[in-house]
Amino acid sequence: MKLYDVTAPIFEGMPVYKNKEEKQPSIQTVTNAHVTESRISMDLHTGTHVDAPLHMMNDGQTIETIELEQLVRPVKVFDVTKTEGKVSKQDLTSFNIEKNDFILLKTKNSFDDHFNFDFIYVAEDAATFLVEKGIAGVGIDALGIERAQEGHPTHKALMSNDVIIIEGLRLKDVPEGDYFMMAAPLKLRGVDAAPARIILMEQK
Ligand SMILES: [Zn+2]
Repeated sequence: MKLYDVTAPIFEGMPVYKNKEEKQPSIQTVTNAHVTESRISMDLHTGTHVDAPLHMMNDGQTIETIELEQLVRPVKVFDVTKTEGKVSKQDLTSFNIEKNDFILLKTKNSFDDHFNFDFIYVAEDAATFLVEKGIAGVGIDALGIERAQEGHPTHKALMSNDVIIIEGLRLKDVPEGDYFMMAAPLKLRGVDAAPARIILMEQK
């Protein structure tokens, strides 16, 4: 069975949102004789991660409310690598999207090795379209599912309808198709996001 690790590696100097220094992970390693222990300080939205509604809504739910069954499940990878600027509703209407689907959007972002300030994002009309379709979740290969939208309407449209958001996927090597996803966010409590190891398995 073919496995695709669609997780971004975490290290000092990795791509972070808008290249902000304060978003860089910091790792301190201490060695005493033969014992080495490291401590990491990082934003919970570093690399590949799952957002919780609290991220964009003051009274939103926290990360532990997302059931594992919602993250370990079949998914559909859609190739929208020809899309420029943003993924709009019209970029999605030709795909077979059914109620309760979890879709992962493969865009040109997956081919960027550095943070791209013009990253492809999900436009508000696409988010509304996906909500109308009744999807369960959406993932994208950008560190943010939106940019340059006043008031974060994409996040809010999805989160207020219990659509799970995964950000920071690496889908360069993943062809369009159906997969089984194992997305395992760190088992944190009471917070707005969690870094996750995410693996796709070929559905054969
Ligand atoms: Zn996030």
